[in-house]
Amino acid sequence: MALFSLIVPFLNERDNVPAFSAFITKIAGELREKFALDLEVVLVDDGSTDDSVLQYAQSMPGTWRIVELSRNFGKEVAVFAGLEECRGDLVMIMDADMQHPWHVALDMISQLVADDNLDAVYAVRDDRMQESMKKAAAVHLFYWLINFRQRFIVPENAGDFRVMRRPVVEAMLKIRDRRRFNKGLYAWAGFRQKAIGYVPDERQHGATKWSNLSLLSLSVEGITSFSALPLRLVSFAGALVGFCGIAYGLKIIFEVLFYGVYVPGYPSLMVAVSVLGGFNLALLGLLGEYIWVGIAETKNRPLYLVRRIHKSTDVHQVNDQPQPVEKEQP
Ligand code: UDP
Ligand code: MG
Repeated sequence: MALFSLIVPFLNERDNVPAFSAFITKIAGELREKFALDLEVVLVDDGSTDDSVLQYAQSMPGTWRIVELSRNFGKEVAVFAGLEECRGDLVMIMDADMQHPWHVALDMISQLVADDNLDAVYAVRDDRMQESMKKAAAVHLFYWLINFRQRFIVPENAGDFRVMRRPVVEAMLKIRDRRRFNKGLYAWAGFRQKAIGYVPDERQHGATKWSNLSLLSLSVEGITSFSALPLRLVSFAGALVGFCGIAYGLKIIFEVLFYGVYVPGYPSLMVAVSVLGGFNLALLGLLGEYIWVGIAETKNRPLYLVRRIHKSTDVHQVNDQPQPVEKEQP
């Protein structure tokens, strides 16, 4: 029987554990009956500070492993750790907070299983109505930037909620980017992928871990690892400002020489200084972002570190302390 891996990264999701465990019991049966698939669950603990690991270990049914990372590495890296750990022929990634509806997951699996020509099916969030106009505009601008004249297109509002065949998983594992932007990497990898729309459920417990600030920093990650367009735009703007400056200078010289016009120095100086200074600083910051990505890659550190792997076959409990070994008397 083929193996189906479900990868679930989590960070402090203890309150969602009961619902999640019940859900696993349900889907294990469905996968077996409908698709003749065996289920293995690979949970990745992304540095939880609550007792989520213990909760999962105590209530998860079936075959599972919990990869406990040594600290919080961020969801993108946690997903990577799960991909490395899983063995499935088909691999699905899902959140631990039950926001990803099972009927959508089932739909994705059926479509992938039914079509030999498909390599992956991914879910696209269809809840744009709930977003503010400002946020929607920012999101559009972001995708326009990273997709501008690229050979691959990063779809808007698609996340990690997807099901893939083994070759796609292997491809994702070959991409060793340390500063990871998964949405871009799935698109970069290519393959035959299909999108289906869905509306996420409400979060049952806890709060989203993505603040506007962390979304902004992920966007910077996305842009700096996929697009040089901002650099080109700034260089272009710099050149434009430079040419305008030269033209303005020529105009002043012309007016002074031929018309004897008195040129007030202060305002024109201030304009020149602030425009050039502003552009200079902005470009320096932008350059820094790109260099920082380069530095992270050259350091060649591992993407993540594992503290421990818990398995459904373990006999001991997760919170067991190692028993002191009695010294033999000489
Ligand atoms: N998550 C994680 N590491 C993090 C942040 C989040 O593993 O640093 C997990 C989180 O526990 C959840 C999933 O990633 O299972 C999605 O997070 P969240 O629900 O906060 O994001 P949202 O649904 O709001 O996009
Ligand atoms: Mg969520």
